[in-house]
Amino acid sequence: MRKRVSILGSGISGVGAAILAKDKGYEVFVSDSNEITSNVKNKLDFISIPWEENKHSYAELKKSDLVIKSPGISNESEIIVKLKNSKVKIISEIEFASTHTNSFIIGVTGSNGKTTTTKLIYHILKNSGLNIGIAGNIGTSFSKQIAENKFDYYVLEISSFQLDDIVDFKPNIAIITNLFEDHLDRYNYDFSKYIKSKLRITMNQENTDTILYNIDDKILKDAIDKSNSKATKMTYGLNNTSFDGNKILIKNKKKTLMINIEELSLKGRHNLLNAMAAITVADLLKISKESIRESLLTFKGLPHRLENVLTIQGVNYINDSKATNINAAFYALDSMNSQTVWIVGGVDKGNDYFELLPLVREKVKAIICLGVDNKKIIEIFSPVIDLIVETESMIEAVKISRKIADKKDNVLLSPACSSFDLFENYEDRGNQFKKAVRNL
Ligand code: ADP
Repeated sequence: MRKRVSILGSGISGVGAAILAKDKGYEVFVSDSNEITSNVKNKLDFISIPWEENKHSYAELKKSDLVIKSPGISNESEIIVKLKNSKVKIISEIEFASTHTNSFIIGVTGSNGKTTTTKLIYHILKNSGLNIGIAGNIGTSFSKQIAENKFDYYVLEISSFQLDDIVDFKPNIAIITNLFEDHLDRYNYDFSKYIKSKLRITMNQENTDTILYNIDDKILKDAIDKSNSKATKMTYGLNNTSFDGNKILIKNKKKTLMINIEELSLKGRHNLLNAMAAITVADLLKISKESIRESLLTFKGLPHRLENVLTIQGVNYINDSKATNINAAFYALDSMNSQTVWIVGGVDKGNDYFELLPLVREKVKAIICLGVDNKKIIEIFSPVIDLIVETESMIEAVKISRKIADKKDNVLLSPACSSFDLFENYEDRGNQFKKAVRNL
């Protein structure tokens, strides 16, 4: 009898898993507790996969040999608890995908910098001629890639939620960019649980595999030291011999190539770290120094991450809408090289703004609050910033910023908060910012 696979959630990873499962001959069923979009329904109908929406039918799902769970569904949710009690095997989509490939896997996780590092690695390796795919938390699922392509290498962006439900998943190279408090609502507000979850990326690795991590991050370094990872450890960091303050050095026995950081379109110390991680991976895969250098210089950076929008009358407008936590906003402010009007606020996930005080004192000339509740921001920064304005629309925030900013100043949108009080998501927030700037 054909094995029955049920997939919970009809998002990108769910649909990808359904396609791969069908391709591999399983009997497939998709179940979503919300409405399924008509686009997805059409796709599933087209490949004859039955589905249900607005419910999870336990009686049906319990008959599964295997359940693949969307990373959006918490392990504490009613259906998961019931299925687990019935001893149904539940795994994540990357686990399922990885059982159907022997390709070389590079997995990137961490609190911030996952997307940038993943895309940069992809850019360097693809330019060098490797047959490589990119997937994970980045818009294409690993499963769909495996069903539809034959890549020799994959670089995957992996969230902690995806790691929670792996069993045997084992990247050849695992990267952890940093660790700090984020998404703690899914980990009972227990930071150590979140750290454990991130460290799962290395739990099945062997000594022929590599765990690469940022040694400047003390919490991360301690966590790796304490872990029983069998992988070969490699580190990068700003105090490393491959960085001299202005230049990244790409070395091997025969020669050293230099990249002046001024030449990179990626700005900020955090992006140097991301670049170092990517360089190390490329080096491990024996990509030539010249090719690495060339690719680093042609990488343009990503939208909504310290993205230069326009310079108008000498004022630089920068979109860092993806900065949804303090750590990202910290690095954005840190990278500002002139006085800055800072647009901040939204849904606060328990932010400790005190960490930003020294930087704000040094670099910020005015704060524009863009959120429904700005009390905390005003309370913390009013002792050091004279001009704090509250706004509730992007157009207003940008117009006021323009009035305050002088020639050579920056206007930086780096909210340190989620966007859901006033915007659909961070992309919507960033796009509204760009539109408002272009309309100035
Ligand atoms: P993620 O995929 O982990 O959310 P992104 O690359 O999308 O990471 O970047 C999210 C935010 O974090 C952006 O504001 C970006 O400028 C900032 N950022 C990028 N890399 C790092 C890093 N290594 N450390 C801290 N912040 C970073």
